[in-house]
Amino acid sequence: MERVVLARPRGFCAGVEMAIKALAWMCRLFEPPVYCYHEIVHNQLVVDRFRELGVVFVDDVAEVPEGAPLMLSAHGSAPEVVADARDRASVVVNAVCPLVTKVHHEMKVRANKGYTVIYVGHAGHEEAIGTMAVAPKAVRLVESEAEVDALDDIEGEVALLAQTTLSHDEWSGIMERARDRFPGLWMPGRADLCFATTNRQAALKAIAGRVDAMVVIGSANSSNTVALEKVARAAGCPAVLRVDSAAELPEDLFGTVGVTAGASAPEELVRQVLARLHPRSGVEEVHVVDEEEYFPPPRELRDLVRAVATAASAAVGAPPSATQPLADDREMGATEALDALAPI
Ligand code: SF4
Repeated sequence: MERVVLARPRGFCAGVEMAIKALAWMCRLFEPPVYCYHEIVHNQLVVDRFRELGVVFVDDVAEVPEGAPLMLSAHGSAPEVVADARDRASVVVNAVCPLVTKVHHEMKVRANKGYTVIYVGHAGHEEAIGTMAVAPKAVRLVESEAEVDALDDIEGEVALLAQTTLSHDEWSGIMERARDRFPGLWMPGRADLCFATTNRQAALKAIAGRVDAMVVIGSANSSNTVALEKVARAAGCPAVLRVDSAAELPEDLFGTVGVTAGASAPEELVRQVLARLHPRSGVEEVHVVDEEEYFPPPRELRDLVRAVATAASAAVGAPPSATQPLADDREMGATEALDALAPI
């Protein structure tokens, strides 16, 4: 094949970086096994690497032995799951992305004010399950414009919220239909679609018209990866291929190939895909927007690391360190944090 056009931004977002680094810290602080409720992020390589480090992923908090350390995934957990986790585990660190927490908050506030909340999301996705569990009686899930039409009439006030990782096109059609059907609908000042999702889709659109095929790197259960696939198809890319790894690439790609990666896909996978494609005329990166967002580690983890550092200083009779533990967190990438840990 001739050339690769590489979208930027692509791959890890601030929420995924935060969650991976937080679980890496749990692996440093505790003897294995550390438990994690749901996949920490939806990427096979990342999950497999944590398994090698002794992390056990569970889909039910009841599977966690009493007193074990537990992390809750980036997608956000139902309030009763968080409560059960706190009852059961010795230490619970909630690595929910702050942008998902924002939607949980909107859900709670609107439900408490008596609104019926139409939630645009994917049935069965962990983020949707966790968000709807905040106000199960108030919420109506829709996945399409047809499902907005099929809703029963709603008495009283109506709000519209969304899963953070929808494609913009998917969201806007449903939003317009909901506005037509429920005039006066309340929506947050900024839509719930997160910056990372929006930026990755914008970068993909910027290259879509130039390529003979688009390769989207990411796992099939990653909602924002699937959204990228949809955006590529809607933009008219002649062929769209979602791959978990370079090994899944077909042999017959030709001409110009676009490459991007979902928010939970490590840059390592991008490098492997580029090496496998090995374009004759090289790789052109198309940079659409800078991403400066940074999410600090979860509060429970900061408290924990501080307590461990204080105890360690006291054990050797040293004064407490003047430097804050995790002070260099912003500079350290998730890939680096993972690589620094040796498999058990
Ligand atoms: S895709 Fe958006 S909502 Fe999801 S973890 Fe990343 S920043 Fe947070």
